[in-house]
Amino acid sequence: MSKNEIDKRREVLRKASADGYALLRKGGTAADAVESAIKVLEDSEIFNAGSGSCVTIEGNVEPDASIMKGDLSCGSVANASVVRNPISLARAVMEKSDHVLIAGPDALTKFATAIGFGELVALRPTKQRLEQYEVYLRNMRRGELKEWPKNSEIMGQYQEAPPGTDFAGTVGAVAIDSQGDVCAGVSTGGRFMKLPGRIGDSAIPGAGLYADHNSGAVSATGAGEEIIKVCLCKTVSDLMRSGIDAQSACDSAINLLTNARGVGTAGVIAIDVKGRFGISRNTEMMPVSLRFVPMEKTLSVVLPEEYSLVDLTGSNNRRKRLTI
Ligand code: ASP
Repeated sequence: MSKNEIDKRREVLRKASADGYALLRKGGTAADAVESAIKVLEDSEIFNAGSGSCVTIEGNVEPDASIMKGDLSCGSVANASVVRNPISLARAVMEKSDHVLIAGPDALTKFATAIGFGELVALRPTKQRLEQYEVYLRNMRRGELKEWPKNSEIMGQYQEAPPGTDFAGTVGAVAIDSQGDVCAGVSTGGRFMKLPGRIGDSAIPGAGLYADHNSGAVSATGAGEEIIKVCLCKTVSDLMRSGIDAQSACDSAINLLTNARGVGTAGVIAIDVKGRFGISRNTEMMPVSLRFVPMEKTLSVVLPEEYSLVDLTGSNNRRKRLTI
């Protein structure tokens, strides 16, 4: 990654945290903060979410997003290519429908229109995503895309995009507000070269996110097919509910996943109801950004070696309790 790309990521992450934090300081809810942070990331085009979503085997975008609060209310959208900010539509499903998950552009267009959601758009892949698509397509045709061996065999049955590098980049956020309410959110383009209609963990509460006022809030990124199999975020939440701090819960859940499904499969962020944070991953990278009341400014970590800036040890983390 070039220095320019690293700086851009750091700046967008910083803005996402800072905007969410500013809302909390003004008395906003954890859901307000999570939605606002994720919107910044969706709009940036540099993460795999919203406008920057990666593409399907046919070269289209089919983003998923979810939001969940500590009272267990939650809303999810899948294949939400009809709005600029899938996280806001997920929040609308939570607040304005009796359902948890609504999927597909037609159904979501009807729902958005029914509630007067605002502007509908046809989300298109960015130029950069289409360039990456060409590379993936070449590799897949040669049978060199090891992530999707079965899809590679049937790819000829799918319509490829007309000519027009990585699997990471899903965005998530967790927050606790002045009332002690917690919220988790997640938004993704999914995984490069997925089959049309594939729905990943980011649309499934318990897998790609979870929140419960008895435990805390958790959000995940990584290989959705693996995250779903171990209900990753519910696992972190259950561990926190048993009294384990957020960092230890994240580490234990990631260890369980690694043992079950291998390395390079996921990362999680969490906040427990005592305001302790947790960050854990078995992937090479997972940029994060943090803001707490005792901190004077937002801390953004983009490169793996910068993790030493964040004190993840249970005891110190505990001392950094959130007191807003
Ligand atoms: N978890 C996302 C999915 O599988 C992808 C990612 O986090 O990069 O849809």
